[in-house]
Parts: sequence; C-alpha cells; structure tokens
Amino acid sequence: MVSNSSNSYEVAIVGGATAGLSAALTLGRTLRRTIVLDGGEPRNKPAAHAHNFFTRDNTPPSELLRIAREQLQPYDTVHLRQAFVTTAAKEGNGFVLGTESGEQFFAQKLILTTGVNDDLAPIPGLAGLWGDRVIHCPYCHGYEVRRLPVCVIANGEAAEHYAVTLSNWHSGITFLTNGENRISTEMQEKFKEKGYKVNTSPIASLERSGQGVAIQLENGELLETGAVYYRPEKVLFRNSLAEQLGCEISPEGVVTVNAVYETTVPGVFAAGDLTHPGLHQLYMAAAGGHLAGTNANRILTQEAW
Ligand SMILES: Cc1cc2nc3c(=O)[nH]c(=O)nc-3n(C[C@H](O)[C@H](O)[C@H](O)COP(=O)(O)OP(=O)(O)OC[C@H]3O[C@@H](n4cnc5c(N)ncnc54)[C@H](O)[C@@H]3O)c2cc1C
Repeated sequence: MVSNSSNSYEVAIVGGATAGLSAALTLGRTLRRTIVLDGGEPRNKPAAHAHNFFTRDNTPPSELLRIAREQLQPYDTVHLRQAFVTTAAKEGNGFVLGTESGEQFFAQKLILTTGVNDDLAPIPGLAGLWGDRVIHCPYCHGYEVRRLPVCVIANGEAAEHYAVTLSNWHSGITFLTNGENRISTEMQEKFKEKGYKVNTSPIASLERSGQGVAIQLENGELLETGAVYYRPEKVLFRNSLAEQLGCEISPEGVVTVNAVYETTVPGVFAAGDLTHPGLHQLYMAAAGGHLAGTNANRILTQEAW
C-alpha cells in the first residue's frame, strides 16, 4: 500500500490514553495533521477511580479519557482510531505503521505512548482483585484505605521500601513474603519496633471477603484484611514497536528519551509509563505527552522553515 492523503499524517501517536491524548491535544492546537491509534487498554482500567490528579481527583479512568477525547473534537486535524499497531518501520522521510487489521499509516514523526503491562504473580485470585482491593501505589490509593488493616505481599528490598513508605498511612502492617524471608536483619529489627508482622508461608489464594480480602495461606492460616499492597516485580512493554524501530532501551528496561522526549531514533518520540522506570503517574504521562507533542511540532516547524 502506498501513502496517500487519507492515510498520511504529520504525526502518528501510537497509544491513545493519558500520554497519547495529551500529545494529541498539543498537536491539535499546533494545527498538525495527527492520527491517534489506540488499542483501548489503559493500564489503570481495573481501578474504579483515579486519584491525585489535579482538578480530577476521584474520577473514573474511563471518564478522564472520555473528557480528553471530547476536548479533542474541536481540533479537526486530529483523528482518533481504535486500532492495534503491530509493525513500525522507517520509510523515506518518515515512518510506516501496520495494524492488526492490515491497515497502514504513514507519518513524518511518531510518538509512542503505549504504556506498560503489569506482570502479575500467578497467585490465584490476585488478578481479579488488581486495582480494586489489591493496590500497588499509596499515592494513588493509600488515602482510601488509610483506616483499614493492610497486608503487603513483598519480600526483600521491595518489602523494606513498602515498610518505610506506608509507615505514614498505617501501623501494624502484616508482610507476606510468600516464601523464604529475604528482608535484611536490620530491617527485621525495625519491623519489630514498628509492630509489623512477617509471615513467610506461601500464599494459596486471595478472594474478596465483604469489603476486604481473605488471604488463604498454604500453612492453613486464613488472614482477613482490608486491602493488599502488591507491586509486580516486572512491568513489560505491550508490544515490540520501540525495538522494531531501533530505539535504545535503557538498563532499567524503559525507552530512552532525551530532555525533549525524543528517543535515540530521530523523529521518534516516546512518553508515559514506557519511558519511566518508576514515576508511573497520570501527571507524568500527561506532562510527557505534552512535551513530546510540543517537540514533534517544534522539529516539524524547524524542518519546514
Ligand atoms: C491499577 C492501577 C491504578 C492506577 N491508579 C492511578 C491513580 O489513581 N493516579 C495516578 O496518577 N496513576 C495511577 N496509575 C498509573 C497510571 O495508570 C499510569 O501512569 C498511566 O496509565 C500511564 O499512561 P500512559 O498513557 O503512559 O499508558 P496507558 O494508560 O497504559 O495507555 C497506553 C495505551 O496504549 C495502547 N496501546 C498499547 N500498545 C498499543 C499498540 N501496539 N497499538 C495501539 N495502541 C496500543 C493501550 O491499549 C492503552 O490504551 C495506576 C496504575 C494502575 C496499574
């Protein structure tokens, strides 16, 4: 298929959630012919509400994106499409994208905002409670569970990190190491001082129990708690687009970007969770998308000047 005016854009954004729609807003306002291709699976989809987002605290994630899409409607150079992009390659002065359904799109600049996937441990019941009673980020959901007893599924440094972070929200936390305890001796002393418990039994299953969670341990104990903190050991890219394009992946496993959110491949920008090893917040995604959009526009303008 060849490039024509209907499938050719100045900028293509792959991923149309917080980072992608933020980039699209900037590109609409800078008059850029832009296509947003989105698979419709934002990372925070399982959560009932998004928190800690200026002016939109406690808003359902789907509502945030609905407002973002609605506010893009006046910008007639921006086109939103539901599509999953499977291939990306350099072609001439730009890039060609191929979708699962066989469509092709051409663009002078690309912005990757495809986020990451949480690689959840295979504990029965965990996935069904993820984003609901099993939470990972106290800045996102800590306030809502502040008065509840909580368990933390974590071991070693991850448990130590949670212990310090959560100490301002909770006392009397139970840590479930799900096997041999790898928490340092020094920290175990501190845990005792704080009244934290450590249970090393492997976890058999989690299930909803009223407003909370029942945790069945393999040693026969049944723990009832209000909420569970758990952070997946790994977050994974949702596709191989960055690798297909030859973008550098940092030792932390994220796409390397410079101060203007351009990757190591000129003309390819990236923003949102896939560019941060840790700062996985809606703010950061929105800010990154905005900067990627601004700089894609700036470079297009300079090239045309
Ligand atoms: C359970 C949970 C709750 C959270 N709650 C909060 C909160 O309350 N407050 C907060 O600040 N942060 C919260 N976060 C973090 C927040 O969700 C992320 O920081 C944010 O979603 C990152 O936005 P993003 O645009 O980079 O990626 P995402 O939101 O993950 O969006 C990526 C988009 O790209 C699409 N996509 C992926 N691959 C392709 C492809 N090949 N082709 C087309 N489209 C593709 C996906 O379908 C998706 O729509 C939460 C995270 C989780 C896991």
